[in-house]
Amino acid sequence: MIKELTNKIINEKYHISKSEATELLNTDLKVLSYCAEQIRKKFCDSKFDMCSIINGKSGKCSENCKFCAQSAHYKTNIKEYSLLDTNSIFNVAKHNWNKKVKRFSIVTSGRKLTDEEIDLVCKTYEKIKKECNIMLCASMGLLTKQQFIKLKKSGVSRYHCNLETSREFFPNICTTHTYDDKINVINIAKKVGLEICSGGIFGMGETFQDRIDMFFELYNLGIKSVPINILNPIKNTPFENNKILSQEEVLRTVAIARFILPDAFIRLAGGRLLFKDKGVSLFSSGANATITGDMLTTNGTSIDEDCDTINKLGFKI
Ligand code: SF4
Repeated sequence: MIKELTNKIINEKYHISKSEATELLNTDLKVLSYCAEQIRKKFCDSKFDMCSIINGKSGKCSENCKFCAQSAHYKTNIKEYSLLDTNSIFNVAKHNWNKKVKRFSIVTSGRKLTDEEIDLVCKTYEKIKKECNIMLCASMGLLTKQQFIKLKKSGVSRYHCNLETSREFFPNICTTHTYDDKINVINIAKKVGLEICSGGIFGMGETFQDRIDMFFELYNLGIKSVPINILNPIKNTPFENNKILSQEEVLRTVAIARFILPDAFIRLAGGRLLFKDKGVSLFSSGANATITGDMLTTNGTSIDEDCDTINKLGFKI
C-alpha cells in the first residue's frame, strides 16, 4: 500500500487522505522513511533551507503554554530581559550572514509586542536589511494588521506562528489564548503579504492522530515552512516529567509530515540535541531544513557543524 501511495503522490500529485495518513502508523519505519525521501526528492529536490534565530526578548510572558520556560506562570531558571537594542541584534544577524546563513529571525516572548516595541524592532530590521543581504523573519505573538504592515515595510518577509498541536489537544497545553487566535494571526499576516512559517512541538502527551491533524491544518493553510520541535522537558513547567520521545517516534512523525506536506520545508528546530546523532537521521526521513545555532532557551548546534553535515548528506543549502 505504501509504495502505491508514494507513486500516486509522486506521479499524480495526489494528496493523501487522513485515513491513509493514519495507516502509515503501521508501516515498517525503514520503508516509510525511504518513501518520505522519495517524495522529498521529487517535490523539493536537494534544496535545504537553513535559518537562525535570536531570542530578542526573554521571559515574563503572560501566557501559560505548558511547554515553555518563558511563561511567567512557572518558576524556571531562564535569563529574563526586555527587548534587545538594535546593535546587539544586528551583530548576531551579521555574524550569521558572514557564516552564509540565509535567514534570520527575531523571536520575542509575550502575547504580543507593543506598538513602541514594534517601532524599535523595525529600526533594527531596517539596519540589518541595509547592511546584510539576509532574509528576515519575525516571531512576535498575536500582532495586529497595522503591526504586520510595519514589519513588512521594514524588510520582514516571513512571519512565524506555531499551531503547536491539533485543535483538539490545544486546550491541554494553553488556556490563555486559543487555536483560533493563532489561525487568525496567520491569516492576517498572509493578507499583508507575509509568507508563513508554522509547525508544532511534539512529546506533550498528544497522540499521533493529533500530529496528523495538525499537519492537515498546516496543509489547508498553505504553509510551506514547518518547524518540528521535540519537547525538552523543562524543570518547573507542567511538562517537566514528560518522557522524551524516542528517535523512532520522531522519525515516523517527520516521515508522515512529508507525506502530508510534500513540497514544504520540514524544519528541525528545538530538541534535535536530545538524540545521539543530533537528529541527523531525520534528514534521511523527509526533513530538509533546520534552525542552526542556539535555540531560544536551550543550546543548538554550531553553524559550521550543520553546514558540514548537510553538505555531506548531498543537500544544497
Ligand atoms: S510559547 Fe510564546 S506565548 Fe507561550 S508562554 Fe512561551 S513565550 Fe509566551
